[in-house]
Amino acid sequence: MASTTAVVRVCKECGQGYSVEELLEDQPYYFDPPHDYWSGAYVYCLACWLCVGPNDFPTEESEPTGSGGATVSPGAQLESS
Ligand SMILES: [Zn+2]
Repeated sequence: MASTTAVVRVCKECGQGYSVEELLEDQPYYFDPPHDYWSGAYVYCLACWLCVGPNDFPTEESEPTGSGGATVSPGAQLESS
């Protein structure tokens, strides 16, 4: 059985586990400038490095509900069909 050399690291930003080795294999172009992921590959996951990580897109669930109004009424979908 071949042992994998991939080391799972934990992103300092979002806490997600990731593997630099896998990213290097799948998306090697991010490691070179202008992205220059090599500078942060061992600290941050690729998503956070590119500013598209979980922390860059807060989920709407964290938003307090209440003064709504933008919700789609259930009847709208029924009428369209
Ligand atoms: Zn991250």
